[in-house]
Order: sequence, then structure tokens, then C-alpha cells
Amino acid sequence: MPAVPWAEYTKLLDGSSHCWYFRGVSRNEAQQLLLSPPNQHGSFLIRDSESSRGEYSLSVRNHAKVSHFRICKGPDGGLYIQKGCPFPNLEELLTYYTVNWKVVQSPLLQPCIPKTPLVRDAWERPRSEFILGRKLGEGYFGEVWEGLWKNMVPVAIKIIKQADMKAEDFTKEIQNLKRLKHERLIQLHAVCSVGEPLYIVTELMRKGNLQSYLSSLEGRALSTLHLISIACQVADGMTYLEEQHIVHRDLAARNILVGDNLTCKIADFGLARLLKDDIYSTSGSTKIPVKWTAPEVANYRTYSLKSDVWSYGILLYEVFTYGQTPYEGMTNQETIQQISMGYRLPRPSTCPPEIYGVMLECWKANAEERPTFLALREKLCSIYRRVHNSLS
Ligand code: ATP
Repeated sequence: MPAVPWAEYTKLLDGSSHCWYFRGVSRNEAQQLLLSPPNQHGSFLIRDSESSRGEYSLSVRNHAKVSHFRICKGPDGGLYIQKGCPFPNLEELLTYYTVNWKVVQSPLLQPCIPKTPLVRDAWERPRSEFILGRKLGEGYFGEVWEGLWKNMVPVAIKIIKQADMKAEDFTKEIQNLKRLKHERLIQLHAVCSVGEPLYIVTELMRKGNLQSYLSSLEGRALSTLHLISIACQVADGMTYLEEQHIVHRDLAARNILVGDNLTCKIADFGLARLLKDDIYSTSGSTKIPVKWTAPEVANYRTYSLKSDVWSYGILLYEVFTYGQTPYEGMTNQETIQQISMGYRLPRPSTCPPEIYGVMLECWKANAEERPTFLALREKLCSIYRRVHNSLS
């Protein structure tokens, strides 16, 4: 029987001499791990039992198959796989089954080799720290769930199928996400990259994406001043990205998230670029959000901060129409054609002329002539102050 209480014992197991003990790994993850190289026939691990706290499971690979054996705990604390054959600890149990391996169907040849985490720093957190709550939405690369971190902090968890990205690209991009910190950008909290699927954990924005929010009952009740405030907040976040020389590539109301007190934050920066890069170049123009895209991007794929400014103009249109789709009734192809002939979206009836003037600036055919985000922020904030003062 273990000489120390169970909780203490599991802590002891984490020591380097117990390389076969995999804390927090589920049955499915164990299976995947054992079946991936460099693991091979005879690789094994012990993990905590998922169904019964305080007990363990032995997972063993036998050629292309993995078998799992419950390690039960007797009333006297002895650990056993077969009733009547208890051991005081896991080491002794393993020693026994290394010799008497027929019972576990495969020789215990070598402890499982863990997958190297893609992110090797404090951002990498064990998956077991997160509890998934309700599904919030779904994007091209997976689902987004509301969750709890360490049973306390509400978070949003983006669950990405790792098959959708190259590991080295991911590592590079996560470095970017970690580096970027601004109150108008969705904050990365943590990453779970050991095993699949990949979790990207960010702050939770309770009101969801701006596009849906604007067309909701609450959104439709917003005043012009509120709408200008949204425009200022997005311009503020984009000014930060501009300073950092980061091109967003997918700026649109669907990628702005709304929190309490009409707080707006930019999402999907960087990661969107990484994830969508191949799709953009390999699947033709169909995947490009054409109606948000500057003509030079639609025609030549030349992304720049100035193409983000064009998209910002479209976002302003979405905001001042309470979430209407731009160029309604036009196909992507028609939109590209019309734009190249000088057509621009008309002023929405609810949009102050001054704000429409800003949109037209953003949609200058010559990218160089479009304003910077810094200039946009200054302009919109001064409009906000003026409207605010005139109302009070
Ligand atoms: P795609 O990734 O294909 O461009 P998308 O940006 O809409 O599409 P996701 O980023 O996967 O997809 O998000 C899907 C939905 O989940 C969003 O539209 C939003 O409603 C919700 N969501 C995403 N992140 C958060 C978050 N941090 N807080 C609250 N809701 C979120």
C-alpha cells in the first residue's frame, strides 16, 4: 500500500523517474500518442482513470492496436489489474507485468515518448485545466466554445483540427499572438498544443461577433453615437496593428467581438492570415471575402495595411447599416467589376455624411491615397467628441 496519501503519491509520480506516468492524458489522447511515431509496438503508459478518481489505467500498444487496463485500488490501498494480485505501488505493478506480460496482451517494452509541445513556455497549459461549456459558434477551422479555466476564469476556446496547419507556421504565428497586447485586441490566454485537437484560449466576449450583434434587438437600439464609438474602438485597435506592421487581411464586423458596455475588440488577427493563406492561394478567389477586399487584393493578392483600410471602410458600412451585408444582391464577380468601374456603396440613410466621407476616403482606388489608421482614429474620435458634446 502506498506509504503516502493518494494526492501526494500522484505528485510524486510527476517526477522524472516516472516517465511512464502521463498526468491529465485521456484515453483517446493516450491511444493517439501511442500510435504516433516514435512510439511503437510495446510502448506503454499509465494515466489517471477518466471514470474513477484515484485509480489509473495502463495503456499498451500491441502493433497497430492499443489496449487499456483499469488499475483498481483495493480497500487497503493496494493497486491491481487482476483481483487478488495487488501491489503497493505502480512501479512494482509494472515490474510484475513486464515479466508476466501475457495478461496485458503485449510486452511492456518502452515507456511512451511524449509529443513535444509546439509551444514550450508558460502559454502552454494542460488540457485538463479547461472545461468546455456551451458552443458559441463555428468558423472555417473549427468550433469556438465558452469554457472555464481552472474552474474560475470564463474563456473562449477555439478548437482547431491540427491537420489544418503546419506545426512550424503555427509556432511562428503563436509567437505573434503572444507579442500583441492591446485593449482593443482579443487577448490570448493560453494554448493546449499537446495532443489533438489544438486549443487556442482567449478572453471571452459575451455578446459575440459584431455583425450578429448589430442586427440583434439590442444592436438595433444603438444610437449614432454608439456606432461612432464602435468605429473609434476598431480604428484604435487597427492603429496598434499598424504600428506593429501587422496586416489583418480579414477585417470585417464578423471578426470584431463585443463584450459588456459595448466594448469592441479585434479578433482573428494573424491567425486568420496563417490559416487562410493556403486556401487563398490554392482555391482561387472563392474563399476571399471579396466584398470586404480591396481591388488590388481581389486582382493581385497584394495585401497591405492599405488594403486593411479598404476593409475598414466596408466595416463602417456594416456598422452604420446595423449589420447589413455590403453590395446586397450583387455577386462577388459583379462587385469586383463595378468597383473597378468606380462604383462605391451608397451612403446608408442612417449614416452621418461626415462618416460617409471617411468611407469614401478608405475606398480610394489608389491604395497610397487612403488614410492611415492613425489618421482614421483621430478623425473618428474628433467626430465622436463633437457629437457627444452636442448631445450633452
Ligand atoms: P472564420 O474563422 O471562418 O473566419 P469566424 O471568424 O466567424 O470564421 P471563429 O473565429 O471560429 O469563426 O468564431 C466563430 C464564432 O464564435 C464567432 O463568430 C463568434 O460569434 C464566436 N466567438 C469567437 N471567439 C469568441 C470569443 N473570444 N468570445 C465570444 N465569442 C466568440
